[in-house]
Amino acid sequence: MRKDQCRQVECQGATIEYRLVRKPVKNINLRIRQELAVVVSANERVPLARVDAFVSAKGPWILKTLERLRSRPVMPALTANPSAAEKRACRMRFQRALERLLPHFTAFGVDMPELKIRTMKSRWGSCAYQKGTITLNSRLMHTPEECLEYVVAHELAHFIHPDHSPSFYGLLSRVMPDHRERKKRLESQGRIL
Ligand SMILES: [Zn+2]
Repeated sequence: MRKDQCRQVECQGATIEYRLVRKPVKNINLRIRQELAVVVSANERVPLARVDAFVSAKGPWILKTLERLRSRPVMPALTANPSAAEKRACRMRFQRALERLLPHFTAFGVDMPELKIRTMKSRWGSCAYQKGTITLNSRLMHTPEECLEYVVAHELAHFIHPDHSPSFYGLLSRVMPDHRERKKRLESQGRIL
C-alpha cells in the first residue's frame, strides 16, 4: 500500500513543504509540479533524515523554481460564466483536435473517446481509459493549437499506456516528435493554480 506523507524542511529562513511518496525508485527523486507542489519519491529503505537532508540540500534551487513558477500568470477559466456559444466553441475546438490526433492511435485499437470538458485546478487533462473518456481543462481554450494538441495526444497515449513509463513516452515521441517543446510552451503560457 502506498502512503504519502507531508514533511517540512527549513531553508534560508523559509519552510519548504513536500510530499513524500514511498515507492521502489532507485534512490530519491524530486520534482516540482506545476501547481507548485514539491513531490519527493524515495525507496522505502531510505531513512527520513536522509530524505530531509536531500530536500534541504536542494532548498535554494526549490525556492528559486517555486518563485519562478509563481511569477507566471494564472491561466484563466474559459470565462467566469461561459455562455452556451462559448461552451460550444470550446467543445468544437477540442473535438476537432481530438479528431485530428485520433488516427495516430487507431492502429493501437483506440476508439474515439467521449470528450468531457471541465475547469480543473491541477491538470490540463485526464484520461479514464476504462470508461473511454478524456477530460480536458477548459483553460486550454487560451492556449495555442500546438499546446492543446500536446495534451490531447498525451491523454490518447494513456489509452495504450496508462502510466508515464518509457513505453508511454516512446509512443508519444513517435506520434508527436516535438511533444517536449510543446509541453514547455504550454507551461510557459501560464499556470493553472
Ligand atoms: Zn499523463
